[in-house]
Amino acid sequence: MTKLLPTSTAGSLPKPAWLAEPEKLWSPWKMDGAALAQAKQDALRVTLAEQRDAGIDIVSDGEQTRQHFVTTFIEGLEGVDFEQRETVRIRDRYDASVPTVVGAVARPRSIFVEDAKFLRGLTDAPIKWALPGPMTMIDTLYDAHYRSREKLAWEFAKLLNEEAKELEAAGIDIIQFDEPAFNVFFEEVNDWGMAALERAMEGLDCQKAVHVCYGYGIKANTDWKATLGSEWRQYEMIFPAIQKSSVDLVSLECHNSHVPLDLIEMLRGKKVMVGAIDVATNTIETPEEVAATLRKALQFVDVDKLYPCTNCGMTPLSRQVARGKLAALSAGAEIIRRELGVSAAA
Ligand SMILES: [Zn+2]
Repeated sequence: MTKLLPTSTAGSLPKPAWLAEPEKLWSPWKMDGAALAQAKQDALRVTLAEQRDAGIDIVSDGEQTRQHFVTTFIEGLEGVDFEQRETVRIRDRYDASVPTVVGAVARPRSIFVEDAKFLRGLTDAPIKWALPGPMTMIDTLYDAHYRSREKLAWEFAKLLNEEAKELEAAGIDIIQFDEPAFNVFFEEVNDWGMAALERAMEGLDCQKAVHVCYGYGIKANTDWKATLGSEWRQYEMIFPAIQKSSVDLVSLECHNSHVPLDLIEMLRGKKVMVGAIDVATNTIETPEEVAATLRKALQFVDVDKLYPCTNCGMTPLSRQVARGKLAALSAGAEIIRRELGVSAAA
């Protein structure tokens, strides 16, 4: 990336109402078969245009072809029975009915690679593609086969690596692994979670990112955040492992959160995708608010390594709010570029 402070999003963006019911997680598709395949491609064109219009530099698929950032990947695998469901506690936070691992997991075919090729054909802009991280995947399943979180994570890491290599070959510039579970299971991260993530990234030449957040702006998450006190120091437990890892970029929740930004100093040398947009509120940030968050982060991130971003995905928001937030992100980044004496064209 030659441009200073290149903007991007954490991943998901709202879908058009003709594709799926808006402002809802796991929203069902409004069509099926060939019509759905066509509609998904149309949605990729729309999300790309909206990101471009908002001045986003590193674009994504906005997760337009997936119902959910974890489930859709798992649906493409063998060894998981979606009919056989058990209730488990997700990220120690809320109970959910989840599918069961009933046999050895395998990836009989690529899952997002055709979508990635399609998006690559539409733009020359750098593309970031998100995949679920191994630890976050195991946390959304009941495991009746391996009966070991570590073993299942390792098996998923191998399958993620196959997918990631094909995405890289399709021309994806940054592959991001979403690991919100890293913010909950610190001991496991340090025992085997980071090793599993390294396995998922093994042999990749493209840029590798990890996204660790406090979740979508849904009630279970905002209720949980209310219990975390005035200072959120969870990142402190995992940053040393990330610092030592081969991860190139770290995507973090910063704006409106209680994360002390000086923790970012622990990642000095890594590129940091600083979340300057709160995804848990419909209030659209002003460019000056975005700039204030970026300015604070610049105390702890080298300027050539700061990537303005959103705190998390924006799927639960309305399209209008998401568009406003993306435009604010771009405008806020431009304020800082001007302060630094570089223009957007630099
Ligand atoms: Zn997130």
